[in-house]
Amino acid sequence: MKKTIRDFDLNNKRVIIRVDFNVPIKDNKILDDNRIVMSLKTIKYAIDNNAKIILMSHLGRVKEESDKESKSLKIVAKRLSELLNKEVIFINDTRGKELETAINGLNSGEILLMENTRFEDLEGKKESGNDLELGNYWSSFGDIFINDAFGTSHRSHASNVGIASNLESGIGFLIEEELDKLNLAITNPKKPFAVILGGAKVSDKIGVIKNLVGICDYILIGGGMAYTFLKSKGYNIGKSLLDNESLDFCKDMLEKYNDKIILPLDSIVSKEFDKDVTLKNNENFDNDDIGLDIGEESIELFKNKLKECNTVVWNGPLGYSEIEKYSKGTKDILEYLSNKNKIVIIGGGDTSSSAINFGYKESFTHISTGGGASLELLEGKKLPGIEIIDEK
Ligand code: AMP
Repeated sequence: MKKTIRDFDLNNKRVIIRVDFNVPIKDNKILDDNRIVMSLKTIKYAIDNNAKIILMSHLGRVKEESDKESKSLKIVAKRLSELLNKEVIFINDTRGKELETAINGLNSGEILLMENTRFEDLEGKKESGNDLELGNYWSSFGDIFINDAFGTSHRSHASNVGIASNLESGIGFLIEEELDKLNLAITNPKKPFAVILGGAKVSDKIGVIKNLVGICDYILIGGGMAYTFLKSKGYNIGKSLLDNESLDFCKDMLEKYNDKIILPLDSIVSKEFDKDVTLKNNENFDNDDIGLDIGEESIELFKNKLKECNTVVWNGPLGYSEIEKYSKGTKDILEYLSNKNKIVIIGGGDTSSSAINFGYKESFTHISTGGGASLELLEGKKLPGIEIIDEK
């Protein structure tokens, strides 16, 4: 078991908390503050326990000097301060005298947010490359390190692995919840257990299929990735997404797990993206049809299989759900699974955004905050940002 923030005496200690404030920003406005809200429990706990709090986060990618303006965390500090109803000191730098003086001047219960950790990527990817000197330097700011950025825990960066290598460390409440809930599904699922997979590419999901096919009862496949499976069965998929390199894998899986792998029976197709739509069975695709959502019969088939199941893990939308006319499959299955007496885990990235945007934020057992990280956990991989944390 990993240590958690509860395992430390935080009183008067300098506590570095790695949070995930990688929020979408447009025209200097935060479009969705969910990630900031999700970090509040750990930050409030640290305030209540009289820690001197140093927050670190990345925001997007910083490739050139001109990215700095749009990738500053200043606007996040303001939003955090509103949410906490408390001052958040923001230092517009990732190193140097001003930052060090501000940290040394912190009183118990005060909060400082450092500038975007990825500003350090400008000269030689120091943050993303887990530069030793940078990890050592940042760890000198604190006495204890708490990792609560689940979304980056599958990466070995200076702001997680680098700092944790030098300090006593634990996980925050958000990572604790992510691990509890995702492990609920993958280590000892209440059966029957279904995995729903969608999204664009089969190759991104091969690891999950391999890891879970043995323990689940069904894998329901929709989204763009379904068409490579259908093609491997000999169907004409027109101009739908095809992941040529995964064809043999799909064929092999269908041969071995014919009863477990459930494919769509029909699709919503268009001749041109975002133009007129038609409902077509797998057998009726024209050469110029593009499959962009699962159809009505598929939705019913998926619901029938899900009806039996007690645990459901879902990664990847069932259609091009950013566009209204291709979103019905994803919406109908979200609606069907919402508020049921089932363990339903929505596994990050586009699926979590869809669930939240379509109004299902409170309707499931868990909606993961980490796309890549939750996918890697479902693949059975160890996450370096969590592995490095002290054991109890
Ligand atoms: P992923 O990151 O692999 O989970 O893929 C998510 C993306 O797949 C989203 O942007 C979806 O719009 C897209 N997607 C889902 N279904 C389809 C489809 N049938 N054709 C093309 N793209 C799709």
